[in-house]
Amino acid sequence: MTSATPRVPIVGGNWKMNTTRAEAHALLRDLRARFDGLRGVEVVICPPAAWLGDAADLLGGSSLAVAAQNVYWEPKGAFTGEVSAPMLVGTAAAVLIGHSERRHVFGETDEDTNRKLRAVLDAGLRPVLAIGELREEAEGGRTEAVLRRQLTGAFEGFDALPPDLVVAYEPVWAIGTGLAATADDAQERCAMVRAILAERFDRTSADACRIQYGGSVNAGNAAGYAACPDVDGVLVGGASLDGASFEAICRAFVA
Ligand code: PEP
Repeated sequence: MTSATPRVPIVGGNWKMNTTRAEAHALLRDLRARFDGLRGVEVVICPPAAWLGDAADLLGGSSLAVAAQNVYWEPKGAFTGEVSAPMLVGTAAAVLIGHSERRHVFGETDEDTNRKLRAVLDAGLRPVLAIGELREEAEGGRTEAVLRRQLTGAFEGFDALPPDLVVAYEPVWAIGTGLAATADDAQERCAMVRAILAERFDRTSADACRIQYGGSVNAGNAAGYAACPDVDGVLVGGASLDGASFEAICRAFVA
């Protein structure tokens, strides 16, 4: 641990576009029973937008937080199908920005992530900024350049690193593939992200920033990431849809 104040691990469960309403309710109730009162790790559930209100109701008063998977940068207007950051206030505490599926399926740019980041911060919500390189970028030795570009783009015009912001380092080749990065590689890349943040802002805020690893995390490999000094939690997709697996992953981060 490089920071003066220990970083509390944070684990996110990204349900993506999964669950019927009945399934979502059952999973939320199960998670509440498993996690309520768990200390030493912050747990954030990212259900589909349609169930955000249900999640806020069913998890209300528990130690579990709710996050949105996406947001639009304008506060209101003629943007059919979109949800703004002010609309999420009171329902979600955090918002995922720049997830690889947003970037590579929906064509979001670094400029878009910058706009979304500003909107989320303006609304007083916590951003979880996801970044990560494609397989060909990793194989071509361009990982650091890609991470630097994504971070520079997201923070364009920022004077300081937002104190509550979480960065999720998620190599695209590891997401939903079962090909998780080794713990050593995750540590190296998260430390790389921290070094870029220190260069862009300052050492103190970079050391205070929580950086997650994401990509095929499961109950069997989570402990390896938890042991890494620069990996401050994980962002979990597939395995977050199973209460027992997600609980095991979160408990791996409790010291
Ligand atoms: C994700 O959706 O951010 C993710 C990491 O998915 P998975 O855990 O399924 O690879």
